[in-house]
Amino acid sequence: MDSIKAQHKLGNTETSIFAIMSQMSEKHNAINLSQGFPNFPISTELKNRVDYYISNNYNQYAPMPGVLRLRENISKMFEYNHGAKYNPDKEITITAGATQALYTAISAFIRQNDEVIIFEPAYDSYAPVVAINGGIVKYSTLSLPNYRINWDQVEKLINNKTRMIIINTPHNPTGSILSADDMKKLESITRNTDIIIISDEVYEHLVFDNNTHHSAARFKELASRTFIIGSFGKTFHATGWKTGFALAPEKLMDEFRKLHQFVVFAVNTPVQNAIADFLNKRENYLSLGSFYQDKRDYFLNKIKNSRFKPIKSEGTYFQVLDYSNISNEKEINFATHLVKEYGIASVPISPFYHKKNDNKLLRFCFAKTEETINKAAEILCKI
Ligand code: PMP
Repeated sequence: MDSIKAQHKLGNTETSIFAIMSQMSEKHNAINLSQGFPNFPISTELKNRVDYYISNNYNQYAPMPGVLRLRENISKMFEYNHGAKYNPDKEITITAGATQALYTAISAFIRQNDEVIIFEPAYDSYAPVVAINGGIVKYSTLSLPNYRINWDQVEKLINNKTRMIIINTPHNPTGSILSADDMKKLESITRNTDIIIISDEVYEHLVFDNNTHHSAARFKELASRTFIIGSFGKTFHATGWKTGFALAPEKLMDEFRKLHQFVVFAVNTPVQNAIADFLNKRENYLSLGSFYQDKRDYFLNKIKNSRFKPIKSEGTYFQVLDYSNISNEKEINFATHLVKEYGIASVPISPFYHKKNDNKLLRFCFAKTEETINKAAEILCKI
């Protein structure tokens, strides 16, 4: 092995902060509000559907673009939620989670020296995929305290090398959402360009306080240049299933599938069939917003007497807390301190900036049982 000269392609890429914090949490037997996953069971009905399909021998390769019934039901869901029409045959592909959809969509289009605009703090899987394809990331910083897009800054970043803009609403790690005005602005500044948009909407159903999820699908002109990425891991509390999807107009989806077939070819057959059945009942996805809003409110109420200051989450299952009243320590050090001394794990926001901006903010996942939230809140109130 020593004689092999490693040819680094992702030289500066570090281990994901989610993995680091979860490992630390496990080692110190801490309450883990770091990695974003629910710690409660999924629906029994959904489990039974998976059992059914496995027992009835739906265990061989699915069609390359995905089980047709699932694509049809995703199409119906987008029509119902957003009045948008996506052709199940040509404009929808089922993927191995949103991660693979993102990888494939970026890799299908980004060439050497193409520029990609990403908003920081940014979910950590975008930039490495741009880099491995030889692209160059141009960062735009979301403005605190509510993580809004600074559109003047974005307009200045756009030039004739800009090939792609990646947005994420509702947003991980901050819990902010984009407004209809944001989407219209994006539509207007990309008009008459060849820019492709990736709209990471994996938390599409987790929007609170009677706000609307402004999917790119709602804006016709914008949708004509956009990949919308979704994940059933988030929607049905089953992150371990790694089943997601990509929606895009036919011309873009053709390119996507040319690569998709060689990245994964097809995705888990029984799970796709089970989800197709489960989507027949709208309530199964329409109820999610209020389900998680209750959890957010429960968590915020329990910590209201603590010294942490929340930036109220508008969507996702993450809540950002400001600890500037408590400590001057750097985020990563303070987060480590919380695990080791207090037994609670969170995620610092600084690793989501390429320059590790430190604003004394930590992300906590509230997709947890009341029992776990109670224990976590009890600790937070003592800090
Ligand atoms: N995008 C965002 C914003 C996410 O938070 C996640 C999950 N952490 C993903 C994509 C990846 O989703 P999946 O688990 O379906 O690959």
